[in-house]
Amino acid sequence: MRCLRKKMSQVFSLTHRYKRTLQAMAVGTFVIYMTLVLYQNVYGYSSGGNSVQELQYNSVDSQTAQDVISKRDSSANSANGNKNNVIDSASPSVVGQSAVRSRAGLPHISSYPTRFDKSYYDYQMGQLSVTGTPKPPTTELDDLLISVKTTKGYHDTRLEMIIKTWYQLAKEQTWFFTDTDDQHYQKMTNGHMVNTNCSQGHFRKALCCKMGREFEFFLDSAKKWWCHFDDDNYVNVPRLVRLLDEYSPTQDWYLGKPSISSPLEIFLDNTKSSTEVNKKVTFWFATGGAGFCISRALALKMLPIAGSGKFVAIGDKIRFPDDVTMGFIIEHILNVPLTVVDAFHSHLEPMEFIRPETFHDQVSFSYARMKNEWNVVKVDGFDLKTDPKRIYSLHCHLYPFFSICPKTIKRR
Ligand code: UDP
Ligand code: MN
Repeated sequence: MRCLRKKMSQVFSLTHRYKRTLQAMAVGTFVIYMTLVLYQNVYGYSSGGNSVQELQYNSVDSQTAQDVISKRDSSANSANGNKNNVIDSASPSVVGQSAVRSRAGLPHISSYPTRFDKSYYDYQMGQLSVTGTPKPPTTELDDLLISVKTTKGYHDTRLEMIIKTWYQLAKEQTWFFTDTDDQHYQKMTNGHMVNTNCSQGHFRKALCCKMGREFEFFLDSAKKWWCHFDDDNYVNVPRLVRLLDEYSPTQDWYLGKPSISSPLEIFLDNTKSSTEVNKKVTFWFATGGAGFCISRALALKMLPIAGSGKFVAIGDKIRFPDDVTMGFIIEHILNVPLTVVDAFHSHLEPMEFIRPETFHDQVSFSYARMKNEWNVVKVDGFDLKTDPKRIYSLHCHLYPFFSICPKTIKRR
């Protein structure tokens, strides 16, 4: 009997213990579940480190610059009837579909050449995350890479002026291609000086060497547009962004302005061939001193011809400067025509004829000293002694709230 009671109590305590364990497990599962639900509510879903949000580009860091860009962009949008506002509230399903498509499309990207995988990946993600329809996405400042060609001797006389003016509107996007190490300007530009190790001097090889570096730097980036300028250009950054917004970076675009009134005719040196006949070729080129822009699609077509140091070799072959070499590659070899944009200006044009009421519409300006006279923009502002090149005055005319601008201009 005692034995039976003992057995019974053993069975009872076993069931009791089993029940307690089950209860503890249920409470544990509930706590884990609640923690997960709370975590998801606060942080959302994780997608392995490459979420669409993470791949969106940084915006400019200065509030002033941001204000300028958004002010100009919104005015452009209203002027164009908001043609680039591709996602409207009436089509939420389109936005959803695009989000699914962008993720589903990712595996195909690995079929691109390895060296440029990241560029393609970022580029594609940028594209797909920005737009919800098949229309080209709206261009943003951060879609651009602006390269400025300069040289040691011009750091103080030209670069400093750029850094104090238009560079402030595109600090993250602008890079200076020079031929020396310069700690002072490296610091002022937050590391945006590139020592190309090309020779100093205004001769073809040195200039083509720098242009080749600028081109390769763009290819290694994830940017949609490459715009080159000389260090004697003033770039009207918001206008440049608006200009590119009219074109798609996935198509071939070569935007700029020629400095001659008819296409250039050159004779290719075919003396090595048995025919001994020099072949004449005719093409347009955008003058480098006014600046020009190239879409990513076009740059990728140029890559096998002009990448990996081959730009200099082509310059050597035709024996013409860097901007002519660019036109030769694009118009003659690739058969992509130059699209003339009148809003680019080099100092080969008389600057005084650009009317002040159109300054906001111009993409670039320049200046030069011709014999004893300056070819400069005619603009009110600082006196001629303080600002002989008129760049500070032009900048203050366009953006009077900058701290370098006099109060009288600000109240205009
Ligand atoms: N440049 C250069 N090395 C030099 C001289 C000029 O890289 O030794 C660059 C200069 O910084 C500028 C461009 O080449 O961006 C054109 O130079 P510049 O305006 O002096 O001459 P231009 O060709 O306009 O007459
Ligand atoms: Mn010049």
